[in-house]
Amino acid sequence: MTDDPIDRHGLRDRFWERVPLKNLTAREWEALCDGCGKCCLNKLEDPDTSEVAFTRVACRLLDDSTCRCAQYEIRKQFVPDCVVLTPKNIGEIAYWMPQTCAYRLMYEGKALYDWHPLISGTPDTVHAAGVSVQGWTVPEFEIPEEDWEDYIIEEPTG
Ligand code: SF4
Ligand code: SF4
Repeated sequence: MTDDPIDRHGLRDRFWERVPLKNLTAREWEALCDGCGKCCLNKLEDPDTSEVAFTRVACRLLDDSTCRCAQYEIRKQFVPDCVVLTPKNIGEIAYWMPQTCAYRLMYEGKALYDWHPLISGTPDTVHAAGVSVQGWTVPEFEIPEEDWEDYIIEEPTG
């Protein structure tokens, strides 16, 4: 079993089923992230319909073997517009998060999937379920932005 990079120990029992997002502790908020890495894919948004399409073109800092940011602590130096999801901004951001993102699911009043590490007890299930970006992204410095639409993906769902 792979070590979970997110500490999910000592949290309130099944907090995601009974505590509203705005009442989560900081550690519970962090533990909601399933580690899929999909929020680090570049997206294209239709300005007329606000429809969002995900691409395989990943942020330059995404390591798609771990599905994590390679420079999380100093990422703003390289990617100033990297958005940090908070209980305050989730309402504006949820629509362009991946459909399986735990923050989006909770915001929309939906249940987490069984492969979520909070339920399965291991981060491996996210990759096994095929909902992470592990091993299938292309780095953004290799693909000019005008070609990103050639890399649009069907979002993997749970
Ligand atoms: S999409 Fe959501 S659950 Fe997946 S890594 Fe990003 S914040 Fe975490
Ligand atoms: S800077 Fe890091 S956290 Fe932000 S989008 Fe890029 S890889 Fe993801």
